[in-house]
Amino acid sequence: MEKEILISRERIRERVKDLARQISSDYEGKSPLLIGILKGSVFFFADLVREISIPVDIDFIGASSYGSQMESSGKIRLTKQVDSLLCARPVILVEDIVDTGLTLTHLVKTIESNSPESIKICALIDKLERRERTVCVDYCGFQIEKGFIVGYGLDYNEKYRQLPDIYIIK
Ligand code: 5GP
Repeated sequence: MEKEILISRERIRERVKDLARQISSDYEGKSPLLIGILKGSVFFFADLVREISIPVDIDFIGASSYGSQMESSGKIRLTKQVDSLLCARPVILVEDIVDTGLTLTHLVKTIESNSPESIKICALIDKLERRERTVCVDYCGFQIEKGFIVGYGLDYNEKYRQLPDIYIIK
């Protein structure tokens, strides 16, 4: 498969630091619960959390919307539930990429039903072209118009997740 670098590891590192600084300042005096959405956000999540300077708790939720193709199936399957109590907690959902918006819309509803104090969304990539649901991305790493990307946690058929840079498939 032909691919070329879209976002280098250096640019990712700088942007992750910016997002962490912003979150640390917005949540000063609070201890938010950061929930990483498996599996695509794992490297972004680990890098982000380690740059945050205020106390945070971490947890994970598992969601899958893609089969083996590059098109979203539109059906969201929960593969792992959050372990923490969410009631009255400030929650930040950490996602790799927002595409149609269906996954986040579904997960926000699931989390909202547990009465958190607030929910904000942090996404490494906001991909605009195929949006079907309005999603408010409070902390956004990069915006891209379209294309299918891999690396830094993002897969194609479960491959390429370990690449340190983000590539676009040609
Ligand atoms: P949505 O529900 O917003 O359509 O899709 C979100 C999920 O689709 C992401 O968490 C990710 O797993 C997958 N996805 C969407 N666009 C891409 C892409 O360009 N590359 C990869 N690898 N996954 C994507």
